[in-house]
Amino acid sequence: MQTSLINPFGLHDADGYMWLKGNLHTHTTNSDGRVAPQARLDQYAAKGYDFLCLSDHDMITRVDTVCAPDNFVLVQGAELHPLNPFGGRQYHLLCLDIHEDMDSEAMAPQEVIDSVNDQGGAVWLAHPHFCAINILRDVMPLTGFAGIEVFNTSTRLAGRGEASVQWDDWSDLGGHLVPTIANDDAHATEAENRDTYAAWTVVRAKERSVAAIMQAIKSGASYATTGPDFHDISLSWIQDGTEAPGKFKATIRSSEALRVLAVTDYIGAEYTEQGKMFDRCELELRADNKWVRFELIGPNDTKAWSNPFDLALVQAT
Ligand SMILES: [Zn+2]
Ligand SMILES: [Zn+2]
Repeated sequence: MQTSLINPFGLHDADGYMWLKGNLHTHTTNSDGRVAPQARLDQYAAKGYDFLCLSDHDMITRVDTVCAPDNFVLVQGAELHPLNPFGGRQYHLLCLDIHEDMDSEAMAPQEVIDSVNDQGGAVWLAHPHFCAINILRDVMPLTGFAGIEVFNTSTRLAGRGEASVQWDDWSDLGGHLVPTIANDDAHATEAENRDTYAAWTVVRAKERSVAAIMQAIKSGASYATTGPDFHDISLSWIQDGTEAPGKFKATIRSSEALRVLAVTDYIGAEYTEQGKMFDRCELELRADNKWVRFELIGPNDTKAWSNPFDLALVQAT
Protein backbone atom coordinates (compact mmCIF):
# COMPACT_ATOMS: atom_id res chain seq x y z
CA MET A 1 0.00 0.00 0.00
CA GLN A 2 1.33 3.41 -1.00
CA THR A 3 1.29 6.43 1.29
CA SER A 4 -0.80 6.32 4.40
CA LEU A 5 -3.02 9.12 5.51
CA ILE A 6 -2.41 11.14 8.65
CA ASN A 7 -4.66 10.65 11.68
CA PRO A 8 -5.77 14.22 12.50
CA PHE A 9 -6.46 13.14 16.08
CA GLY A 10 -2.76 12.44 16.53
CA LEU A 11 -2.00 16.15 15.92
CA HIS A 12 -2.15 18.06 19.17
CA ASP A 13 -3.21 21.54 20.31
CA ALA A 14 0.07 21.76 22.23
CA ASP A 15 1.93 21.60 18.91
CA GLY A 16 -0.12 24.49 17.50
CA TYR A 17 -2.79 22.55 15.60
CA MET A 18 -6.34 23.90 15.37
CA TRP A 19 -9.57 22.78 13.70
CA LEU A 20 -10.77 24.87 10.76
CA LYS A 21 -14.13 24.51 9.01
CA GLY A 22 -14.64 25.15 5.31
CA ASN A 23 -16.59 24.65 2.12
CA LEU A 24 -14.43 24.12 -0.95
CA HIS A 25 -17.08 23.91 -3.66
CA THR A 26 -19.29 26.94 -4.33
CA HIS A 27 -20.69 28.67 -7.42
CA THR A 28 -21.32 32.37 -7.94
CA THR A 29 -22.93 34.54 -10.61
CA ASN A 30 -19.66 34.13 -12.54
CA SER A 31 -21.10 30.75 -13.60
CA ASP A 32 -24.48 29.22 -12.67
CA GLY A 33 -24.67 30.36 -9.03
CA ARG A 34 -27.35 32.82 -7.96
CA VAL A 35 -25.25 34.88 -5.54
CA ALA A 36 -22.43 37.29 -6.45
CA PRO A 37 -18.90 36.34 -5.35
CA GLN A 38 -18.56 38.97 -2.61
CA ALA A 39 -22.00 38.23 -1.13
CA ARG A 40 -21.34 34.48 -1.17
CA LEU A 41 -18.04 34.98 0.64
CA ASP A 42 -19.61 37.35 3.19
CA GLN A 43 -22.39 34.86 3.90
CA TYR A 44 -20.05 31.93 4.55
CA ALA A 45 -17.80 34.09 6.71
CA ALA A 46 -20.84 35.25 8.72
CA LYS A 47 -21.79 31.61 9.32
CA GLY A 48 -18.47 30.98 11.07
CA TYR A 49 -16.64 29.23 8.25
CA ASP A 50 -12.84 29.59 8.26
CA PHE A 51 -12.22 28.90 4.57
CA LEU A 52 -14.04 28.83 1.24
CA CYS A 53 -13.42 28.20 -2.45
CA LEU A 54 -15.49 30.03 -5.06
CA SER A 55 -15.19 27.22 -7.62
CA ASP A 56 -17.06 28.42 -10.68
CA HIS A 57 -17.51 26.23 -13.75
CA ASP A 58 -14.76 26.57 -16.35
CA MET A 59 -13.35 29.82 -15.00
CA ILE A 60 -11.30 30.96 -12.06
CA THR A 61 -13.07 33.50 -9.87
CA ARG A 62 -9.96 35.37 -8.79
CA VAL A 63 -9.49 35.82 -5.08
CA ASP A 64 -8.25 39.39 -5.64
CA THR A 65 -11.68 40.37 -7.03
CA VAL A 66 -13.28 39.97 -3.58
CA CYS A 67 -12.39 41.07 -0.10
CA ALA A 68 -12.18 38.44 2.64
CA PRO A 69 -12.31 39.25 6.35
CA ASP A 70 -9.12 38.99 8.42
CA ASN A 71 -8.23 35.39 9.20
CA PHE A 72 -10.59 34.05 6.55
CA VAL A 73 -8.84 31.86 3.95
CA LEU A 74 -10.02 32.07 0.37
CA VAL A 75 -8.80 29.24 -1.85
CA GLN A 76 -8.69 30.01 -5.55
CA GLY A 77 -10.19 27.30 -7.76
CA ALA A 78 -12.59 26.21 -10.45
CA GLU A 79 -14.71 23.23 -11.45
CA LEU A 80 -13.37 21.89 -14.74
CA HIS A 81 -15.11 19.55 -17.14
CA PRO A 82 -13.00 17.43 -19.48
CA LEU A 83 -14.94 14.99 -21.65
CA ASN A 84 -14.74 11.33 -20.71
CA PRO A 85 -12.96 9.16 -23.30
CA PHE A 86 -13.67 5.93 -21.38
CA GLY A 87 -17.42 5.71 -21.95
CA GLY A 88 -18.72 7.45 -18.83
CA ARG A 89 -20.17 10.91 -18.41
CA GLN A 90 -18.23 14.16 -18.49
CA TYR A 91 -16.04 14.72 -15.43
CA HIS A 92 -16.64 17.34 -12.79
CA LEU A 93 -13.18 18.05 -11.39
CA LEU A 94 -12.92 20.35 -8.40
CA CYS A 95 -9.54 22.01 -8.96
CA LEU A 96 -8.20 23.81 -5.90
CA ASP A 97 -5.37 26.32 -5.60
CA ILE A 98 -5.03 26.92 -9.34
CA HIS A 99 -3.97 30.05 -11.16
CA GLU A 100 -4.20 29.48 -14.93
CA ASP A 101 -7.49 29.20 -16.78
CA MET A 102 -7.72 26.37 -19.29
CA ASP A 103 -10.17 25.16 -21.89
CA SER A 104 -10.78 21.86 -20.12
CA GLU A 105 -13.50 20.59 -22.46
CA ALA A 106 -10.95 20.58 -25.26
CA MET A 107 -8.40 18.69 -23.15
CA ALA A 108 -8.08 15.04 -22.19
CA PRO A 109 -8.82 14.42 -18.49
CA GLN A 110 -5.22 13.41 -17.80
CA GLU A 111 -3.99 16.65 -19.39
CA VAL A 112 -6.26 18.67 -17.10
CA ILE A 113 -5.10 16.79 -14.01
CA ASP A 114 -1.44 17.16 -14.99
CA SER A 115 -1.86 20.88 -15.69
CA VAL A 116 -3.48 21.48 -12.30
CA ASN A 117 -0.77 19.52 -10.51
CA ASP A 118 1.94 21.37 -12.47
CA GLN A 119 0.46 24.65 -11.18
CA GLY A 120 0.76 23.37 -7.61
CA GLY A 121 -2.97 22.74 -7.33
CA ALA A 122 -5.00 19.65 -6.53
CA VAL A 123 -7.79 17.80 -8.33
CA TRP A 124 -10.71 16.35 -6.38
CA LEU A 125 -13.27 14.11 -8.06
CA ALA A 126 -16.53 16.00 -7.50
CA HIS A 127 -19.84 14.21 -6.81
CA PRO A 128 -18.99 10.98 -8.69
CA HIS A 129 -22.31 9.37 -7.77
CA PHE A 130 -24.21 12.24 -9.38
CA CYS A 131 -22.04 11.95 -12.54
CA ALA A 132 -22.43 8.15 -12.63
CA ILE A 133 -18.65 7.85 -12.55
CA ASN A 134 -17.51 4.24 -12.44
CA ILE A 135 -14.19 4.05 -10.62
CA LEU A 136 -12.85 1.08 -12.56
CA ARG A 137 -13.83 2.49 -15.96
CA ASP A 138 -13.40 6.23 -15.48
CA VAL A 139 -10.83 6.78 -12.71
CA MET A 140 -8.42 3.84 -12.77
CA PRO A 141 -7.00 4.88 -16.19
CA LEU A 142 -6.04 8.27 -14.68
CA THR A 143 -3.39 9.30 -12.16
CA GLY A 144 -2.79 12.38 -10.06
CA PHE A 145 -6.06 12.91 -8.21
CA ALA A 146 -5.88 14.27 -4.66
CA GLY A 147 -9.10 12.59 -3.52
CA ILE A 148 -12.86 12.33 -3.67
CA GLU A 149 -15.86 14.42 -2.62
CA VAL A 150 -17.85 11.91 -0.56
CA PHE A 151 -20.82 14.19 0.01
CA ASN A 152 -22.26 17.09 -1.97
CA THR A 153 -25.29 19.03 -0.73
CA SER A 154 -26.44 20.18 -4.16
CA THR A 155 -26.47 16.73 -5.77
CA ARG A 156 -28.24 15.31 -2.72
CA LEU A 157 -31.28 17.11 -4.14
CA ALA A 158 -31.08 14.71 -7.10
CA GLY A 159 -30.83 11.68 -4.80
CA ARG A 160 -27.12 11.24 -5.51
CA GLY A 161 -25.40 13.24 -2.81
CA GLU A 162 -23.24 10.54 -1.24
CA ALA A 163 -20.44 8.71 -3.03
CA SER A 164 -19.20 6.29 -0.37
CA VAL A 165 -19.42 3.27 -2.70
CA GLN A 166 -17.23 5.03 -5.27
CA TRP A 167 -14.85 6.04 -2.49
CA ASP A 168 -14.50 2.48 -1.18
CA ASP A 169 -14.07 1.08 -4.68
CA TRP A 170 -11.24 3.54 -5.23
CA SER A 171 -9.46 2.56 -2.01
CA ASP A 172 -9.84 -1.12 -2.99
CA LEU A 173 -8.75 -0.76 -6.61
CA GLY A 174 -6.28 2.12 -6.55
CA GLY A 175 -3.53 0.67 -4.38
CA HIS A 176 -3.71 3.52 -1.86
CA LEU A 177 -6.20 5.02 0.57
CA VAL A 178 -8.10 7.99 -0.79
CA PRO A 179 -8.83 11.10 1.33
CA THR A 180 -12.21 12.79 1.23
CA ILE A 181 -13.95 16.14 1.54
CA ALA A 182 -17.62 17.19 1.79
CA ASN A 183 -19.01 20.35 0.21
CA ASP A 184 -22.19 22.28 -0.41
CA ASP A 185 -21.62 22.93 -4.15
CA ALA A 186 -23.82 25.94 -3.39
CA HIS A 187 -25.78 27.42 -6.28
CA ALA A 188 -28.95 28.76 -4.64
CA THR A 189 -29.52 31.79 -2.45
CA GLU A 190 -29.57 31.52 1.32
CA ALA A 191 -33.31 32.20 1.29
CA GLU A 192 -33.93 29.27 -1.06
CA ASN A 193 -32.25 27.07 1.56
CA ARG A 194 -31.32 24.30 -0.88
CA ASP A 195 -27.60 23.82 -0.95
CA THR A 196 -26.00 26.10 1.62
CA TYR A 197 -24.38 25.34 5.03
CA ALA A 198 -25.22 21.63 5.02
CA ALA A 199 -21.88 19.88 4.34
CA TRP A 200 -18.34 20.90 5.11
CA THR A 201 -14.82 19.69 5.76
CA VAL A 202 -12.99 20.15 9.06
CA VAL A 203 -9.21 20.26 8.79
CA ARG A 204 -6.43 20.02 11.34
CA ALA A 205 -3.89 22.73 10.50
CA LYS A 206 -1.26 24.86 12.18
CA GLU A 207 -1.99 27.99 10.15
CA ARG A 208 -4.85 29.79 8.50
CA SER A 209 -3.32 29.57 5.05
CA VAL A 210 -4.15 28.03 1.69
CA ALA A 211 -1.02 25.88 1.86
CA ALA A 212 -1.82 24.50 5.31
CA ILE A 213 -5.43 23.73 4.40
CA MET A 214 -4.49 22.08 1.10
CA GLN A 215 -1.83 20.00 2.84
CA ALA A 216 -4.31 18.91 5.53
CA ILE A 217 -6.95 17.64 3.12
CA LYS A 218 -4.46 15.93 0.82
CA SER A 219 -2.76 14.14 3.71
CA GLY A 220 -6.02 13.06 5.37
CA ALA A 221 -5.73 15.40 8.39
CA SER A 222 -9.43 16.20 8.17
CA TYR A 223 -12.93 14.76 8.25
CA ALA A 224 -16.10 15.46 6.30
CA THR A 225 -19.47 16.13 7.88
CA THR A 226 -23.06 17.26 7.57
CA GLY A 227 -23.24 17.96 11.30
CA PRO A 228 -21.62 15.60 13.81
CA ASP A 229 -18.00 15.94 14.94
CA PHE A 230 -15.36 13.36 15.63
CA HIS A 231 -13.37 14.23 18.76
CA ASP A 232 -10.92 11.34 18.73
CA ILE A 233 -10.25 8.14 16.84
CA SER A 234 -7.68 5.69 18.14
CA LEU A 235 -6.83 2.27 16.82
CA SER A 236 -4.79 -0.50 18.37
CA TRP A 237 -3.82 -4.09 17.62
CA ILE A 238 -4.43 -6.52 20.44
CA GLN A 239 -2.70 -9.85 20.74
CA ASP A 240 -2.60 -11.25 24.23
CA GLY A 241 0.25 -13.72 23.76
CA THR A 242 -2.02 -16.76 23.84
CA GLU A 243 -3.05 -18.87 20.87
CA ALA A 244 -6.04 -16.55 20.40
CA PRO A 245 -5.96 -14.67 17.12
CA GLY A 246 -5.29 -10.95 17.34
CA LYS A 247 -7.83 -8.24 16.60
CA PHE A 248 -8.08 -4.52 16.02
CA LYS A 249 -9.78 -2.30 18.55
CA ALA A 250 -11.14 1.14 17.64
CA THR A 251 -12.18 3.78 20.18
CA ILE A 252 -14.23 6.71 18.90
CA ARG A 253 -15.14 9.85 20.83
CA SER A 254 -17.58 12.24 19.17
CA SER A 255 -20.46 14.64 19.48
CA GLU A 256 -23.79 12.98 20.36
CA ALA A 257 -24.25 10.01 18.04
CA LEU A 258 -26.92 7.43 17.33
CA ARG A 259 -24.70 5.00 15.46
CA VAL A 260 -21.07 4.50 14.50
CA LEU A 261 -20.15 2.31 11.56
CA ALA A 262 -16.69 0.89 10.97
CA VAL A 263 -16.58 0.49 7.19
CA THR A 264 -13.75 -1.79 6.12
CA ASP A 265 -12.52 -3.53 2.97
CA TYR A 266 -14.40 -6.66 4.10
CA ILE A 267 -17.20 -6.91 6.68
CA GLY A 268 -17.36 -3.94 9.04
CA ALA A 269 -18.90 -3.36 12.43
CA GLU A 270 -21.66 -1.27 13.97
CA TYR A 271 -22.01 0.29 17.40
CA THR A 272 -25.40 1.42 18.67
CA GLU A 273 -27.18 1.77 21.99
CA GLN A 274 -30.63 1.08 20.58
CA GLY A 275 -31.63 4.65 19.89
CA LYS A 276 -29.91 6.16 22.95
CA MET A 277 -27.32 8.84 22.22
CA PHE A 278 -23.69 8.24 23.13
CA ASP A 279 -20.39 10.09 22.71
CA ARG A 280 -17.88 7.26 23.08
CA CYS A 281 -17.77 3.76 21.72
CA GLU A 282 -15.45 0.85 21.07
CA LEU A 283 -15.55 -1.49 18.10
CA GLU A 284 -13.61 -4.61 17.21
CA LEU A 285 -12.42 -5.28 13.68
CA ARG A 286 -11.38 -8.49 11.96
CA ALA A 287 -7.69 -9.35 12.00
CA ASP A 288 -7.70 -9.69 8.20
CA ASN A 289 -9.09 -6.20 7.53
CA LYS A 290 -6.77 -4.01 5.48
CA TRP A 291 -8.34 -0.59 6.08
CA VAL A 292 -11.13 1.02 8.04
CA ARG A 293 -13.00 4.31 7.94
CA PHE A 294 -15.72 5.48 10.32
CA GLU A 295 -19.16 6.91 9.72
CA LEU A 296 -20.76 8.76 12.60
CA ILE A 297 -24.54 9.05 12.42
CA GLY A 298 -25.92 11.97 14.41
CA PRO A 299 -29.44 13.28 14.97
CA ASN A 300 -31.69 14.44 12.10
CA ASP A 301 -30.06 12.35 9.36
CA THR A 302 -26.65 13.97 9.81
CA LYS A 303 -23.42 12.12 9.25
CA ALA A 304 -19.65 12.49 9.45
CA TRP A 305 -17.02 10.52 7.53
CA SER A 306 -13.49 9.94 8.80
CA ASN A 307 -10.71 9.32 6.34
CA PRO A 308 -9.58 5.70 5.97
CA PHE A 309 -6.85 4.21 8.18
CA ASP A 310 -4.26 1.68 6.99
CA LEU A 311 -4.56 -1.22 9.44
CA ALA A 312 -1.19 -2.74 8.47
CA LEU A 313 0.40 0.31 10.12
CA VAL A 314 -1.71 -0.10 13.25
CA GLN A 315 -0.60 -3.72 13.50
CA ALA A 316 3.03 -2.70 13.10
CA THR A 317 2.98 -0.23 16.02
ZN1 LIG B 1 -20.40 19.62 -10.63
ZN1 LIG C 1 -20.20 22.45 -8.69
